[in-house]
Amino acid sequence: MSSTPTAVPITVAYGDGIGPEIMDATLRILTAAGARIAPEVIEIGEQVYARGQTAGIEPASWDSLRRTKVFLKSPITTPQGGGFKSLNVTVRKTLGLYANVRPCVSFHPYVATKHPNVDVVIVRENEEDLYAGIEHRQSDEVYQCLKLVSRPGCEKIIRYAFEYARANGRKQVTCMTKDNIMKITDGLFHRVFDEVKVEYPEIQTHHMIIDIGAARLATRPEDFDVIVTLNLYGDIISDIAAEVTGSVGLGGSANIGDQCAMFEAVHGSAPDISGKGIANPSGLLLGAVMMLVHIGQGDVAEKIHNAWLATLEDGVHTGDIYHEKVSELKVGTTAFADAVIERLGKQPVKFAPVAYAGGAPIAVAGRITPTKPAKKELVGVDVFLHWRGAASTLGEQLRRVDGDGLTLSMISNRGVKVWPNGLPETFCTDHWRCRFTATDASHPLALSQVLSLLMRVGNANFDFVKTEHLYTFDGVSGFSLGQGQ
Ligand code: NAD
Repeated sequence: MSSTPTAVPITVAYGDGIGPEIMDATLRILTAAGARIAPEVIEIGEQVYARGQTAGIEPASWDSLRRTKVFLKSPITTPQGGGFKSLNVTVRKTLGLYANVRPCVSFHPYVATKHPNVDVVIVRENEEDLYAGIEHRQSDEVYQCLKLVSRPGCEKIIRYAFEYARANGRKQVTCMTKDNIMKITDGLFHRVFDEVKVEYPEIQTHHMIIDIGAARLATRPEDFDVIVTLNLYGDIISDIAAEVTGSVGLGGSANIGDQCAMFEAVHGSAPDISGKGIANPSGLLLGAVMMLVHIGQGDVAEKIHNAWLATLEDGVHTGDIYHEKVSELKVGTTAFADAVIERLGKQPVKFAPVAYAGGAPIAVAGRITPTKPAKKELVGVDVFLHWRGAASTLGEQLRRVDGDGLTLSMISNRGVKVWPNGLPETFCTDHWRCRFTATDASHPLALSQVLSLLMRVGNANFDFVKTEHLYTFDGVSGFSLGQGQ
């Protein structure tokens, strides 16, 4: 591909399986449409893993990514087992790509779906939540995964969702959390959503608990416009949304950060059809369309997207979506790309044409509200024990370590209060949260009091596996109660 003086450098990876075929087709369409880009090719995936790079990318390739800040990536084949790391997760985290944006659209009648009018965009937080990957085994029976949610992390993704909605003429943003249960972490996400939404009065807003939200997305997807949510929920509901449109294979995806961005197809490397010339390049092409909008070439993005819609409605289809009732011509990857190129400049007739007016990148950098340090006071400590026995026995034994301003106030097992006054029906495992609080609630504790408590717990031969401090922030409790407390 020749570059023009104003060409924007982008990093390109051809990937594995069908990756090279769909990347060739995509870049050919971009060139024909006049995309002002200068690709730099890097190698990722199988061959790199085979050379012993467990991340699937050569260290030198980061130089290109950090220079261009834009990555158009074909799918790769992830090796099973063997300590190999997911390249996607590595790239997202290393480059700070905090927003995963996945438009899910029905292309009825060309792609079979029970929901012909879906046009929803999932904006998923991409770096935090349970995906921080901090897991520990703590006893014979109990394993934990830490769910970390930060205020700037929430604000970045929520602001991004609103900016995306505004830039794309979207009318509604729905926030989904589970803050009826996780009042502190998901509660923060919901609270930040309520704070940010007032800056976007023209956009309707809703909050839904994720379980009913996911159910509604499966049964009434046409009710949604933009959805913003935490990492795990977003991972799940973006697949639900893609599945109800029937067009998982046609989806493009963007991973956006303040500095860098990565664009790709939703699907994998499809080794079963690799090398046959029959793969549908649409997913990667729609990822590339999002890239063009991101780098300020909305004019080219619009031209390609409309030509692609026109190709679809003219019945020129690859085998994965070919249906004799609606298709006119079954084509392979190359002929499909040719058909899109032939239609550049044409508008779709049955589908509504897309418009990427302005085509400006969505700038969110530098708008994160600094978090004001609060007055933080230590009011207790949860000491987690690996221990076997009955809750009442543990309560009696552990009370002996009370003292120096700390009193055992509650024991819970998997979050349910079991001492004092637990019920015999509660199933207990070998992992106990023992809450010690300040004997005199009017005086905050010193760290040394916690340290001497831990010495007493250890000297009494209890196996403590971790502690969590109990703080108040400007007088507001920063910890949850035990269920039943
Ligand atoms: P897949 O998406 O590659 O394939 C699933 C099915 O869809 C296959 O039958 C395939 O032939 C078909 N398909 C997928 N893309 C198609 C296209 N463009 N045109 C026509 N048909 C298409 O999922 P999989 O088989 O579970 O995974 C294969 C490999 O891809 C695995 O190694 C997986 O880890 C990897 N993967 C990579 C990414 C990525 O790099 N972003 C994403 C998902 C899976």
